[in-house]
Amino acid sequence: MTVATIGIIGGGQLGRMLAMAAARLNFRTIVLEPQPDCPAAQVASVQITAGYDDPAALAELAASCDVVTYEFENVPVSAAAGLTRNVAVYPPPEALEAAQDRLVEKRFINDCGIPTARFHAVDSQADLEAALDDFGGQGVLKTRRLGYDGKGQKVFRSTADNRAGVYTELGGVPMILESFVAFDREISIIAARGTDGAIACYDPAENVHRNGILHTSTVPASITSATAADARKSAEKILATLGYVGVVGIEFFVLPDGSLIANEMAPRVHNSGHWTEAACVISQFEQHIRAVSGLPLGNVDRHSDCVMQNLIGDDILVLPEWLKRRDTLVHLYGKTESRPGRKMGHVTTLTAKSPVFP
Ligand code: AMP
Repeated sequence: MTVATIGIIGGGQLGRMLAMAAARLNFRTIVLEPQPDCPAAQVASVQITAGYDDPAALAELAASCDVVTYEFENVPVSAAAGLTRNVAVYPPPEALEAAQDRLVEKRFINDCGIPTARFHAVDSQADLEAALDDFGGQGVLKTRRLGYDGKGQKVFRSTADNRAGVYTELGGVPMILESFVAFDREISIIAARGTDGAIACYDPAENVHRNGILHTSTVPASITSATAADARKSAEKILATLGYVGVVGIEFFVLPDGSLIANEMAPRVHNSGHWTEAACVISQFEQHIRAVSGLPLGNVDRHSDCVMQNLIGDDILVLPEWLKRRDTLVHLYGKTESRPGRKMGHVTTLTAKSPVFP
């Protein structure tokens, strides 16, 4: 195989794990990230220390790489689209466009025939009041752009909840009010599509969030085989519609009757797929590298059951205990300073594989 170079826009832990997987397959990686000594640059071949939309840096990336990918969904679409004139960019910038704006994303997912929560665009306090009235006073208000880990959100549980001034409090930016989904559990599916159109899906994970941040992903999820098949079908539809290349993470709410409501999609490797590095022969990171570099997709079979837990902030203090465990893979992100809410690493604990879904 010819050694080639993969560009990665974004230098966080996802870029770090992509660079590690790339190196194992003889690829060099160049990371574009303004933060010096970022988690990805510590393991990549080269860092270009500049903004994601810096024209000179993007030109250098295009000239030095055979393919460019990204590790976060808020890469400026104009930067990604501009790069395509000179170098292959995967996943396609259209996927970024669909994922960056919750309103566009919901419409796209619905157009794929996949249900989401009901929603209204909210561009003023009056819009908010009207949307809440339509949903009986309940709903989840989210900024359309740049929200992550539950940031830029407000939950309305009843008509008694204060509405006054909330539109301004959340920044007065374009928002969306989603109807409140009374779900039983949350799952996600990690799927990949190759340049040849082949699609492979890992088993869905069941996700538990704490303070809006992913806490654990457990596989298998407590869902029926029909629900798992539904998640797979939705992923296949989204990937095929976008002509996607790479790994995607799609989150769903599971209703009491087992049906699925799609919440959001991330056009990149996903925190709820970190378990794959411990419980599958081919991790989501290698799968993404394989997909964007035109290699055949790898095997997504799971050899063990597992629970992945994020190490957030001071969770890192119990690292010595995790390191003693014989059933646990520890993965740290090279961040020297621990702060509340900051993802420092994750651990995946394996158990024997249980029989397949009921
Ligand atoms: P998100 O940023 O869209 O992933 O939302 C963060 C978390 O808020 C989700 O994982 C859910 O636990 C909760 N949530 C988001 N949207 C809704 C909704 N429409 N109904 C009920 N819970 C929601």
